[in-house]
Amino acid sequence: MDDEIAVRLKAYEGRPAAVAGLGKDPVDAAMIRHWCEAMGDENPAYTGPAAVAPPTMLQVWTMGGLSGHAGRAPAYEELLGLLDDAGYTAVVATDCEQEYLRPLRPGDEVTFDTVIESVSARKTTRLGSGYFITTRTDVRVGMETAGTHRFRILKYAPQKHTPAQQEPREHRRPRPVTNRDNAGFWSGVERNRLLIQRCAACDTLRFPWLPGCGSCGSPDWDTVEASGAGSVYSYVVMHHPPFPAFDPPYAVGLIELAEGVRIVSNVVGVPYDKVRIGMPVRLEFRRYDDELVLPVFRPACEGVAG
Ligand SMILES: [Zn+2]
Repeated sequence: MDDEIAVRLKAYEGRPAAVAGLGKDPVDAAMIRHWCEAMGDENPAYTGPAAVAPPTMLQVWTMGGLSGHAGRAPAYEELLGLLDDAGYTAVVATDCEQEYLRPLRPGDEVTFDTVIESVSARKTTRLGSGYFITTRTDVRVGMETAGTHRFRILKYAPQKHTPAQQEPREHRRPRPVTNRDNAGFWSGVERNRLLIQRCAACDTLRFPWLPGCGSCGSPDWDTVEASGAGSVYSYVVMHHPPFPAFDPPYAVGLIELAEGVRIVSNVVGVPYDKVRIGMPVRLEFRRYDDELVLPVFRPACEGVAG
């Protein structure tokens, strides 16, 4: 069964997903400005009479918007439909790679072609088993290639939920990914200390942990311990997707610490629909299992906790 699907999937490699696509609008200064403001990118190359578009905007000029594009070839939809019918009904975007060959400038009219570059063999992932599909879009101005955009998705069969007793390890909280850049943070957490990096050259605090200072570039740093006071700067309520270690809906808070840096964490001790922007919170360390302790935040005023 899977072999038969694999053969059918492979036949889509090299087939077009979009042919002779035409950018909905020419490259334009207003879109560049909106992008730069959203990204906080003040690079002077993107303004003024000699402006170029930020290279990472490449995909923007090919997007179809709500009404879609003419020129879409049916092969890609067919491929997704084939996987849906075989039970691989879920999709997640995994990564994107871009290559820039020629700068785009206001007034350039973009055309593009998209090809289904590869369909992987069936892979087993934490989300479920499925197939990685890579498409490659060549973006052109006239005859010149401005860049290529590779986009990869995983089309997978969602795992069935099973009672926690049967697969306890699967149902534990995901482990933090530690590396040499953030090891100091996690060793602090083990000792119930929330450590913030401080640049040794300019004293700027930074979080999450990074190898260099975003203000002055210095690689030298020490740490300060957070007092534990903070407030909810923003939050979202997660409803989907369900994940075994979590029980939606739940609130994920962006907590602004008294020291000025922000940390993403859980807001505990309060119903998800009672979390509010500006709510004062206090750090605590919560043990989730025999290996994992995480910093979480609890409303600081008792009256709000529910
Ligand atoms: Zn610095």
